[in-house]
Amino acid sequence: MKHIAWCGAVLFVLIAVGLASGQRDFARVQIKTTHVAGNIHMLDGAGGNIGISVGDDGVVMIDDQFAPLADKIRKAVEKVAGKKKPIRFLVNTHMHGDHTGGNAYFGKEASIIAHDNVRVRLLAQSKDGLPVITFDDSLSIHMNGEQVKVVHFPTGHTDGDSIIFFEKSNVVHMGDQFFSGMFPYVDLNSGGNVVGFTKNVEKVLEMVPDDVKIIPGHGPLSSVDDLHEFHRMLVETTDYVRKKMEAGNRFEKIRTGGLPDEWKSWSWGFVTEERWIDAVYRSLQ
Ligand SMILES: [Zn+2]
Repeated sequence: MKHIAWCGAVLFVLIAVGLASGQRDFARVQIKTTHVAGNIHMLDGAGGNIGISVGDDGVVMIDDQFAPLADKIRKAVEKVAGKKKPIRFLVNTHMHGDHTGGNAYFGKEASIIAHDNVRVRLLAQSKDGLPVITFDDSLSIHMNGEQVKVVHFPTGHTDGDSIIFFEKSNVVHMGDQFFSGMFPYVDLNSGGNVVGFTKNVEKVLEMVPDDVKIIPGHGPLSSVDDLHEFHRMLVETTDYVRKKMEAGNRFEKIRTGGLPDEWKSWSWGFVTEERWIDAVYRSLQ
């Protein structure tokens, strides 16, 4: 019963945060643009970080934040790319509204690309601006003098997450497979799992060179060191919760017992320490 009550509480928080973001004053949000490396720029307003590849062939955009920001985002892209360059492709790293909210707006200009499961989940919400190109394992876009590899990483943040590798520019956009310096949100109800999430991060660490620049789904532009630290947090907090479970502690006691002090600062508004423990616990069950 206690567990059911806790699920109810989580749902309440989700709805409350959802409402809060719905009522957020988007009029005040400004889009900040940062040059990352090579062709790649990062756009940051509210919601998941956006990455754009800009060059002679036009623009490839990764994620699009919230619908009310679409006009501002389009203007920010134009500032970097110039008036005549179209956004030819938009990649959705996954289906959450803070990464796909602008789909209806940008889908008129760009062909939207996403993993098969993203289209299925967006379709269930009967959203406009659905992905028109979907894939199973991976897909490449050849534009602006480089290969842009879009690779599916299963059972992590959701069941449909992609990570985008800009090979020549030496940049990776990890979507919500990386929350830099904070506990990640893992959507267990949409096929996510902390154990799979950690494996995905491990795989990326094996794939990228040491000097790669990493755009996280949330948080500042990051380095391989930051991703290593994030990985260490995932591994050590998971081990901590696992040991408590193996010692026969009840869920409620583990959840309220907290984590070692080292990880306190990783707690934030949407994913508090308790909520993170809850996600780890349910992933291990
Ligand atoms: Zn997300």
